[in-house]
Amino acid sequence: MSKDTVQNGVVVSMEYTLKVDGEVLDSSKDSGPLSFLAGHDNIVPGLEREMIGMKVGESKDVVVSPEDGYGEFDEEAFVDVPVSEFPDDMELEEGLEMMVTDEDGNQQMAYVDSFDDEDVTLSFNHPLAGAELHFSVKVTGLREPTSEELDHGHVHEDGHQH
Ligand code: ZN
Repeated sequence: MSKDTVQNGVVVSMEYTLKVDGEVLDSSKDSGPLSFLAGHDNIVPGLEREMIGMKVGESKDVVVSPEDGYGEFDEEAFVDVPVSEFPDDMELEEGLEMMVTDEDGNQQMAYVDSFDDEDVTLSFNHPLAGAELHFSVKVTGLREPTSEELDHGHVHEDGHQH
């Protein structure tokens, strides 16, 4: 089966720029082209859906709503944790991300929203929750994944192996 368009199970390389409110937040001009394995939740769903069917060399501007991006902003998704529960050697700073485990043993990504001498306020909102994402993308390559990449559900490049 020929893999000459973006489709599930194909490794897609792309140049991209992400803007929110007119400000460039992320760009392959700084970080290099991004590769992802389509169909494996490697990128936000609203972007992947719009890229299906694109060919190498094709460009597109895609606007992704919060619900198809990093989620709606949830005013309730904050929790105060005593500073004493964090490792002594942890350098707290706003925006710091960490994995936390809830009472049910589920792991979740949290971000430091603010902190003082006593409490750290963690947000379970992604930093881009509630944001409308403006992507400009250009497909620069398509290839079959290796069987290991398919197993892991992500791309192994730039020495990334895990
Ligand atoms: Zn891996």
